[in-house]
Amino acid sequence: MLREELIFVGTCDIAGLVRGKGFPASELPARRKTGIGWTHTNLMQTCFGQIFDTPFGTGGDLMIVPDPSAEVHVDFRDDSAAEHFFLGDICHTDGSPWECCVRAFLRRASTSLTEVSGLNLIAAFEQEFVYTGVEDLPGHAYSLSAFRRQGILGEMLTAAIRATSAKPDSFLAEYGPRQYEVTIAPEAAMCAADQGVIAREMARAVAFRLGHQAIFSPMPVADGTGNGVHVHFSLHGTGGAPATYDPNGTFGLSEAATHFAAGVLHHMPAITAITAPSPVSFLRLTPNRWAPTVADIKAQDRGAALRICPVFEGSDEKERAAQFNLEFRVCDAAASPYMALGALIFAGADGLARKLDLPDCAPPLPHSLSEALDTMEASDAVKSWFGPTFFDAYLRHKRSELSHVADLAPAELCARYAEIY
Ligand code: GLU
Ligand code: MG
Repeated sequence: MLREELIFVGTCDIAGLVRGKGFPASELPARRKTGIGWTHTNLMQTCFGQIFDTPFGTGGDLMIVPDPSAEVHVDFRDDSAAEHFFLGDICHTDGSPWECCVRAFLRRASTSLTEVSGLNLIAAFEQEFVYTGVEDLPGHAYSLSAFRRQGILGEMLTAAIRATSAKPDSFLAEYGPRQYEVTIAPEAAMCAADQGVIAREMARAVAFRLGHQAIFSPMPVADGTGNGVHVHFSLHGTGGAPATYDPNGTFGLSEAATHFAAGVLHHMPAITAITAPSPVSFLRLTPNRWAPTVADIKAQDRGAALRICPVFEGSDEKERAAQFNLEFRVCDAAASPYMALGALIFAGADGLARKLDLPDCAPPLPHSLSEALDTMEASDAVKSWFGPTFFDAYLRHKRSELSHVADLAPAELCARYAEIY
């Protein structure tokens, strides 16, 4: 069969979907500089593919420039086309960053953290999804049977992730019907977000090759089990020294980590519009789902918004400090990992700048995307993180998406989002 290899360059946009364009692999040397053509209004493409509203009109040119550190080249050794793609930055045609680029948002967040504290954040993405290639057998949560019945999905996914820059950490059969979870090892923020996108895409790529789907939608079925994206994170000094743990601090948190967590909790109701940004996200953030409903922090509690993760008993203090991490649970796969991590870091950096203490009370999280967007719109801090153009565009994008599905009942809504994510 006559074939020629293609490479795709894209970004995981504010709809949480990887979009971009392909070109012949032989053109890569030139494309490393010029990237692929993009336009401002692409930002307004909702998860349904349609653009319902845009402040940008039809004019203007941008480019997505491939980042060599975010290249994926996975050959499944069957006759399918290799997964060969780059994630990249959306830039102006002179190569300068576009203010609405999701990776630029995360980069600005990391810079603000380093500026206020001299610290860096390391993160790992733990992601849940439903695999359509197995039947639901009641009563099989976490079971060996459910683990076995996924066949070779887990092994293919582990091998595919291993063939990228990411390191597989674990793969398991989760609590929900047909639900699985994949976790990758921690990395510095930008790399962690890239790899969060890559792990999600590898799950989709493997499921596709097996003739099925990996559904990451936050709530694939109304009244079913939610798919969370849990973001593990810790703070480190410039030389890499762990800076999150202090045995004498509340919950074992260092002073810096206390302020960081306090900032995250303070901004949590507003950033929910970024980290759980779909209408079905709010069907997940309801009681008794091992998902958060209020902006709280708790030690080893899977219902908390910020969970202090366990460290292994018997570890010495040095090992404890290295293992110690927090888990942000108000996140799902409707969010671009760059935006979710960026919002988390901006919020934490603000807590550090203002030396915030952990709050005494835990305000409720927003109950709907519309409430979350209103809360975000009222936050001058969040507005300053985005900048005026991006802030306005984000709100317009999400509100236009919402009005498109305003009339749908929960069951229909979940079905629509399960088709997309
Ligand atoms: N499925 C739960 C969620 O939506 C999380 C379950 C767990 O703790 O792994 O976040
Ligand atoms: Mg889980």
